Amino acid sequence: MNELHEQLAQRTAQVRRRMEEACRAAGRAPESVQLCAASKTQTADTVRAAWDAGIDVFGENRVQELVEKRAAGAYGSTPLHFIGHLQTNKVRQVVGAADLIESVDSEHLLLAVQKEAARQGIVQPVLLQVNIGVEASKGGVAPEGLTALLNQADGMENILVKGLMCIPPKETDPAAQRRWFAAMRALFDEAAARSWTRTRMEILSMGMSSDFEAAIQEGATLVRVGTAIFGPRAYPLPAEP
Ligand SMILES: *Cc1c(COP(=O)(O)O)cnc(C)c1O
Repeated sequence: MNELHEQLAQRTAQVRRRMEEACRAAGRAPESVQLCAASKTQTADTVRAAWDAGIDVFGENRVQELVEKRAAGAYGSTPLHFIGHLQTNKVRQVVGAADLIESVDSEHLLLAVQKEAARQGIVQPVLLQVNIGVEASKGGVAPEGLTALLNQADGMENILVKGLMCIPPKETDPAAQRRWFAAMRALFDEAAARSWTRTRMEILSMGMSSDFEAAIQEGATLVRVGTAIFGPRAYPLPAEP
């Protein structure tokens, strides 16, 4: 193992310990939560070095990075999620390339994904992203729009909704963090209790480096962790072209 492998393995082990501790505190089985390594800004070599560090999934939030690193073989056989804002004009590059698109948040985008998935002859698994704090700066459907969006998605033959995702307002107090995650969990449970044609409510994606313990306590089944695995991101993201 070189230094990079060593560092990624150590940081990931530390994240896993925090996850296990949160599971224990919540009375949950450790294997009920998957770890997505949010690899934005990381090079293909760094992503490759993380394969055997103990992560379950890679997550990219920019289409160009996903396409380039995927072409460079950065992800190997590790599942790949798209976790960023998706513009309809880039849907073609992501459908079929991402095992799960976590960030579908409008009918317009659903229709574009449906159309492209049909063209490719596949069923595209997605999550619906909810703007749980109703922040102008964030993507996601408003909580009161979720039912309508779920109903639309459930009727689309080439889309499989597998759950919900959120990026809540930034909070430093764990009790405040938990309130947002609990609100998401309530939406998730409500949706899971309904009977659907296609939809299977299985994944609740919430929690990042600074709040994933709170998310696990409130029922997250997938946490998306960047900084705590890769360290501070080295350069600011350029504007999306
Ligand atoms: C970057 C990112 C994360 C991880 O953020 P960290 O605070 O670095 O853990 C999670 N989710 C999304 C959508 C991201 O873009």
